[in-house]
Amino acid sequence: MNTTRRFLLCACGAAGLTASMPAALQARTALPSISMAEHERCMRLAIAEARGNPMYPFGAVIVRPSASGGAGETMARGVNDARENPILHGEIACMNDYLRRHGNKGWADMVLYTTGEPCSMCMSALVWAGIGGVVFASSVEGILAAGIDQIRITTRQVAEASPFYSGLLLGGVLAAETDKMFLERKR
Ligand SMILES: [Zn+2]
Repeated sequence: MNTTRRFLLCACGAAGLTASMPAALQARTALPSISMAEHERCMRLAIAEARGNPMYPFGAVIVRPSASGGAGETMARGVNDARENPILHGEIACMNDYLRRHGNKGWADMVLYTTGEPCSMCMSALVWAGIGGVVFASSVEGILAAGIDQIRITTRQVAEASPFYSGLLLGGVLAAETDKMFLERKR
């Protein structure tokens, strides 16, 4: 793999991430260093958004990480609204909210947190935006295991097919919680 890329995808649980990932994160990303506790705090915000759609609990927030290592600033939020519009996945809804509030700028300084691994549509949109980082909880496999249709293309595959993109990519944050949320969703 090209060593300038910053793929830090990890299928392990949050405990494993805490033990093994932060040093790599800090060494390889242009974003401020982000602790695993902060990743988990932000993921809980995404989970809170997801509660807005009990059948398809895909929620997302966009956070500007703090340069001083404290809590980042929540810049935008969104939840899956595909019943209204088929492209309004949580990530797209969140990107639209960001655009409304902040305009089409500043993406490289932002990290999107989402309860489910972005689909190929959403990950492509995030790549085109040039977002600084994408952090997700449940993987494509975890989403499929909950009986939700999902295109079998991973975020990593989309990123690797986009040589102009070098954002942070991290998976599995609070996945145990979101896997359970997807399994127990309203049907
Ligand atoms: Zn999507």
